[in-house]
Amino acid sequence: MPNVSEYFGSLVFNDSVMKARLPRDTYRSLKKTMDEGTLLDPALADVVANAMKDWAIEKGCTHFTHWFQPLSGVTAEKHDSFISPAGDGKIIMEFSGKELVQGEPDASSFPSGGLRATFEARGYTAWDPTAYAFIKDRTLCIPTAFCSYGGHALDKKTPLLRSMDALNTQAMRILRLFDPRTHVTRVHTFVGPEQEYFLVPKKLYDQRRDLIFTGRTLFGARPPKGQELDDHYFGTLKPQVDAFMKDLDEELWKLGILAKTEHNEAAPAQHELAPIYCRTGMATDHNQLTMEMMQKVAKRHDLVCLLHEKPFQGVNGSGKHNNWSLGTSDGANLLTPGDTPAENAQFLLFLCAVIKAVDEYQDLLRISTASAGNDHRLGAAEAPPAVVSIFLGDELTAILDALEAHKTYDPKEKVRLKLGVDALPSFPMDNTDRNRTSPFAFTGNKFEFRMVGSSQSIADCNTALNTAVAEALRVFADRLEAAEDFTYMLNHLIRKTVREHRRIIFNGNGYDEAWIREAVEERGLSNLVSTPEAFSHFLDEKNIRLFTSHGVFTEVEMRSRYEIALENYAKTVRIEANTMAAMVKKEILPAVAACAKDLAETSLALRSLSPDCGSAEGELAKRLSGLYRSITEKSGELENAVAAMSALDDAKAQADAARFITTDIMAELRTLCDSAEALTAEKYWPYPTYAALLFGVE
Ligand code: ADP
Ligand code: MG
Repeated sequence: MPNVSEYFGSLVFNDSVMKARLPRDTYRSLKKTMDEGTLLDPALADVVANAMKDWAIEKGCTHFTHWFQPLSGVTAEKHDSFISPAGDGKIIMEFSGKELVQGEPDASSFPSGGLRATFEARGYTAWDPTAYAFIKDRTLCIPTAFCSYGGHALDKKTPLLRSMDALNTQAMRILRLFDPRTHVTRVHTFVGPEQEYFLVPKKLYDQRRDLIFTGRTLFGARPPKGQELDDHYFGTLKPQVDAFMKDLDEELWKLGILAKTEHNEAAPAQHELAPIYCRTGMATDHNQLTMEMMQKVAKRHDLVCLLHEKPFQGVNGSGKHNNWSLGTSDGANLLTPGDTPAENAQFLLFLCAVIKAVDEYQDLLRISTASAGNDHRLGAAEAPPAVVSIFLGDELTAILDALEAHKTYDPKEKVRLKLGVDALPSFPMDNTDRNRTSPFAFTGNKFEFRMVGSSQSIADCNTALNTAVAEALRVFADRLEAAEDFTYMLNHLIRKTVREHRRIIFNGNGYDEAWIREAVEERGLSNLVSTPEAFSHFLDEKNIRLFTSHGVFTEVEMRSRYEIALENYAKTVRIEANTMAAMVKKEILPAVAACAKDLAETSLALRSLSPDCGSAEGELAKRLSGLYRSITEKSGELENAVAAMSALDDAKAQADAARFITTDIMAELRTLCDSAEALTAEKYWPYPTYAALLFGVE
């Protein structure tokens, strides 16, 4: 086994490969494009393409693909081979700059929310030179953006890159105000997404159509043992899981993905992988690849990796903790409290920008995590609620409060105050008080957004977050640039932010029912519990203004995304409902009937021995028969509701109907079936139980 430092990144056309294989000028231009977002000279594309091809062929590749992230949420690729006829019956391996820069996937089946149909027939992919090309399945993968010929983004990556540009523009204005001679050339956002997932035995998975078709269990009575003993979290790894994780790490390392921490999570069969953070564009690519590799590698170990947000009812769901920070081209983290008052003033201003952004665009943050799957997770066991709030910790909150009240902060033991000319304190942060129940927690030098669902692309939440923060910084920069007294205005902006946005700061237990009441009734925070409800605010005027004014989305793009989100939601529910109805009819009802019949026969036989006997068996048969009737009726209701939903032609109306189907009819049908499962002897029940699924991995 070669050592990790030798094979790390071996499948990536990364900086060191570029340096070694590209002419020096080409390398420099490409590097500048990557670091500073400058436009790449198109003349260089041929040179880069050729170097990429030679490298890929040496690594055994025969094909290349434009790899992109359409709105379906999973990645897409279309493979072309490098071969080209040489004229003498032989072939040569070719890859031109043109093929690198632009591709035309046959993309009519990707969701476009009417964009392509209305404006033009086809979309194209365009090389994203800010991301590294890599090799997967002996294919050279070129990260690309996916757009319509009218220039509308049809993917998740394009708006993300635009949002990073918007944030850079505004953050640079602020940095120049603090230091007109700053050497910083660009501000980047960094993300480290912690990925949660479940592993279940493949042979059991294969016996459940709900898992196969929907990624989650639609039925299943509670197991006798759940996670109440807390014995799984950080527990020792089972050998099968250990082997899976080692194998996964190796695959990810070859792809240059900094998989760092692998451990068990709170629920049985639940695990987590955390990479080391990197720039958001790359982190997004890496997270998509990580999810793909998890599923692939699991199969090799006779396991299936479930990325659904709520595969098991009553058991912890899976999320993705989006750890987010702002950093400069000099390597400084703008969310780190500094050592000097001036550094701290700058830190506090960036902190205030985040506070303002999260309060003003709490709906957009929530929307960016809305999906049929995540609806089941948010607000349920051990997951953040649908209410967005910020945890800052007691110290930082006290400092902001003191500033707001025009008082100097009364130093407690842990907090050292150093009052500078501008009256802002310097303080070392104490990170020991970590709150794990907050949807948006400050953790010392970064924010951790925990609402994101485990199967979602992190592009959406970061697009929303980056743009909202860019807007807050724009407002600050406008005021500061126009101010006669910079320090006065700085203090004013910080105070004003604390005063106006204090309601979003909550350091208590986010899982507490009382908090939801307080948040909604006293603080007026929004509680968008479902995807249709959340998306009904996506096109609010303030949100359209935000995205369009920073050039992140056009209004047309927003409308198309709105349609797609609601359509996806309704489709997901329809698939779940149809799967449920089929399972009920084909497997559950026959099982209940068989068990009831045997019990009835047993009861009769026993009664013929003695009138004292057989009554319990008879009672159970009657209860099962009653359930049989209720289940039949409910599943009829479900089928009718799905038919009625499908007949609606408005996306919002369909989504609302789907919402009712999932929260009411499907939930009731499930309860009935789970009761039947609990009463039916195991030999009749057609599916592996929760206990088997959750504790079956060896
Ligand atoms: P935990 O939250 O489990 O205590 P850490 O705080 O070490 O773990 O980090 C969690 C994730 O946050 C990791 O992916 C890590 O790389 C990432 N992270 C750490 N620092 C930053 C930062 N400045 N910006 C973005 N992500 C970061
Ligand atoms: Mg964490």
